[in-house]
Amino acid sequence: MSEAKAHHKVVIIGSGPAGLTAAIYASRANLQPMCIEGWSAGGQLMITNDVENYPGFPKGITGPELMKEFRDQAERFGTKLVTADVTKVDFSARPFKVWVEEDLYLADSVIISTGASARWLDIPTEKALQGRGVSACAVCDGAFFKNEDVIIVGGGDTAMEEANYLTGMCKSVTIVHRRHEFRASKIMQDRVFANPKIKVVWDSAIEEIKDIAEGKVTSAVIKNLKNGERTELPVGAVFVAIGHEPNTQLFKGVLELHDNGYIKTKPGTTQTSIEGVFASGDVQDFVYRQAVTAAGTGCMAALEAERWLAAHGSH
Ligand code: NDP
Repeated sequence: MSEAKAHHKVVIIGSGPAGLTAAIYASRANLQPMCIEGWSAGGQLMITNDVENYPGFPKGITGPELMKEFRDQAERFGTKLVTADVTKVDFSARPFKVWVEEDLYLADSVIISTGASARWLDIPTEKALQGRGVSACAVCDGAFFKNEDVIIVGGGDTAMEEANYLTGMCKSVTIVHRRHEFRASKIMQDRVFANPKIKVVWDSAIEEIKDIAEGKVTSAVIKNLKNGERTELPVGAVFVAIGHEPNTQLFKGVLELHDNGYIKTKPGTTQTSIEGVFASGDVQDFVYRQAVTAAGTGCMAALEAERWLAAHGSH
């Protein structure tokens, strides 16, 4: 077995709001954590233009700027950052083992904050208009489209919840769904059907989002999947709510996961199925998914790791 490159009391995997908050707390507790931040460091906020709901920034801040502040704060207290992806873990014995390619790191405790990634429609125009009317988070971006007509794509609980949420500020919300029934819970569907500002377009998919030349969303071309008919709907935004994929590939068969792939934690804590391994942020939360809630659970994970290390004679 290769010799370990370093041995840390706390190794944090991931560098979104959860991972970096865990890093700030762990480094201020003098645990000298190492944070393996990933090649796509910063997480989902790196593709978010304006963040207006993170407390403490009354004038708003861009996602990348906010993450730079988090990162600077973690570094200021001595977090060691490694810019690479973790490629393998072994939590079967302590110290835990975390690999970055050939480099092995040993850890007395691990905090997993690898987040989740929004699923996208994968149509050509979608990416170019991300942050310009195409969004995967209504709570984050809805307020930019006050009194406008908008589209939500999807038929799950998220789509229902976000559609209802958007009616609080938008002129109208059209849900575009690929089948003729929703998979969302009945109560969420009932709320949607009872809301006069929401219209549903069944059996349909978004084929194109316009207008790249204008640099913002102006309309969407919707194709009826049953009869092939196309209609163009003028809208200011397209919210994609077709689910998220938790970034848990590394932990399959290692930690207990929910059926939907998210890491299971003991209720009210960040403790995973292996003692000394904690999970925070979107990798274990499929309900709230906010930067501020991710930061909150990152703080919990660091405090729990600190207590656990103290109880096991490592702090
Ligand atoms: P889901 O996976 O439940 O739903 C995704 C929806 O998107 C489905 O209707 C699916 O269609 C559709 N879809 C998937 N891929 C595509 C595609 N490529 N093109 C078009 N449509 C597509 O995800 P959610 O985010 O809605 O929910 C995730 C989990 O979180 C669920 O367990 C949910 O119950 C939970 N949740 C709970 C909430 C609450 O309790 N308040 C709030 C939000 C989420 P199809 O139906 O045809 O497969």
